[in-house]
Amino acid sequence: MTDLVRVFTDWLHSTDPALFTISLIVAQPIATFVHELGHASVPLAATKEPVAIRIGRLPSLRQTRIGRLQLMLHWYPAYPYGLTVYKGRLNRRTRIMFVLGGPTAHAAFGALLTAIGLSGHLSVLTGVGVVVFCEAFSNLIPFTRHGFRSDGAQLWLVLRGKYSLLMTQDPAARRKL
Ligand SMILES: [Zn+2]
Repeated sequence: MTDLVRVFTDWLHSTDPALFTISLIVAQPIATFVHELGHASVPLAATKEPVAIRIGRLPSLRQTRIGRLQLMLHWYPAYPYGLTVYKGRLNRRTRIMFVLGGPTAHAAFGALLTAIGLSGHLSVLTGVGVVVFCEAFSNLIPFTRHGFRSDGAQLWLVLRGKYSLLMTQDPAARRKL
């Protein structure tokens, strides 16, 4: 037990690039999950209909349901293969909140990691937090890849008043639910 605590403490205070890289890889699926929760929270709060989140590839390793939220989870490849699906209708303002909810939660998660890292002088955590924070905004760049739209591209559609499936496809998500 003491050894485990020491390993954890060493990791927190390390500046080793390899440890940083591993920590960043571990943080990615968590950041993606937080991102999708940010999207899903809007229709969950604004409607009484079901919402689905998919993380990673299909077929999912684990499927579960928490209230109206359906989760389909796979650890590989977990970033940026996140997807939130809501098939009902939302008004324009709520649609904008739905699209922005993901990057907002993602940025908040990065900021939290950075704040904890800075307050504890934990280099790895600070670095991971900064990268996660920046990634949150990268998703707002409008682009379409393999037929799926980034949050920025979704937002552009909604702002132009175009109908959009109320669905956010984070980059490289290759299959629909
Ligand atoms: Zn998103």
